[in-house]
Amino acid sequence: MSKHIHKVHLKSRTIHPAAYYFEGIKSGNRTILSEAITLVESTNIEHEKVAEDIIELCLPLSGNSIRIGVTGIPGVGKSTFIEAFGLSLVEEQQKKVAVLAIDPSSEKSKGSILGDKTRMTQLSSHQNAFIRPSPSAGKLGGVAEATRETILLCEAAGYDVILIETVGVGQSEITVKSMVDFFLLLMIAGAGDELQGIKRGIMEMADAILINKADGDNVKKAELAQQEYKNALHLFPPNKNGWIPQVATCSALNKENIDVLHEIIDQFVRLTNSNNSFKENRKKQAKFWFDETISNAIKNLFYNDPKIKGELISLERTVIEGEISPFKAAKKLINLFKN
Ligand code: GDP
Repeated sequence: MSKHIHKVHLKSRTIHPAAYYFEGIKSGNRTILSEAITLVESTNIEHEKVAEDIIELCLPLSGNSIRIGVTGIPGVGKSTFIEAFGLSLVEEQQKKVAVLAIDPSSEKSKGSILGDKTRMTQLSSHQNAFIRPSPSAGKLGGVAEATRETILLCEAAGYDVILIETVGVGQSEITVKSMVDFFLLLMIAGAGDELQGIKRGIMEMADAILINKADGDNVKKAELAQQEYKNALHLFPPNKNGWIPQVATCSALNKENIDVLHEIIDQFVRLTNSNNSFKENRKKQAKFWFDETISNAIKNLFYNDPKIKGELISLERTVIEGEISPFKAAKKLINLFKN
């Protein structure tokens, strides 16, 4: 792993008081930011306590970034695109950019996104960029919660653009959509089956579709695909916020037409600020995360309860064998938990 990809292990380190991390984060110290994120990702009770305090301290300084989700099937060019787009942000627009990832499979595959040191080498060595691999908490709920909190820490550290990368293979898109302001879908032109490669539901969530690899022999095909996606998006119900999803082509590899995304996002922010839907969306997301955190915590309490653990497997078996109804069995467990 590149030394610029910020992941640190705390095992043998001393844990400092929350104020130490807060001061470090505020002053833009990336090592301390990384350590704080590791605490946020940890399931150790002591770490959790400090992490909570750090988040509490950072909260008043958070919220001032644009949060952008980036998805697409493996190989579409996400990391190449993020590198190109990120560099244009840090170099041409003097922005500070944080790149986070959500990959619920990263524990099994030992970091299938952002784990590879060859990815985003230029961006990761830029002083105004911060790149963080996916937490490997296993369950998507835990990974998502940690990422959500990490966004707040990065904002407190002064990052103006937060890019959240996820693999285009299912549930994780919905999770990312629920924590970003703007959702970008990267695609490539296929051979006549433009709409087959990606689930319709994911297309419906997109605020922009960029058809990548529009270079060399591929330019014509990409332009054709652009037209097809434009037509397809017309068939979807209009967005409540009044935004019409945009479709464009680009070449991440040649850094061509990357700027189109700056324009699209500027337009998006202007529109959603003028009709207040930007803020409304964040409020809705905050409520969603409040509910989500409670239900995750309750689930954990339930399944980690020794009484429940003792009964669950045998009760499950009797349900499968048809000896007791699933509802009755569930009630039995819940009553056991309550008493
Ligand atoms: P990811 O899995 O979505 O992150 O995709 P990568 O960024 O790792 O890219 C997958 C492959 O596609 C790599 O070999 C890239 O060099 C290549 N690639 C990415 N963007 C472009 C592009 O715009 N044009 C061409 N021709 N190749 C690209």
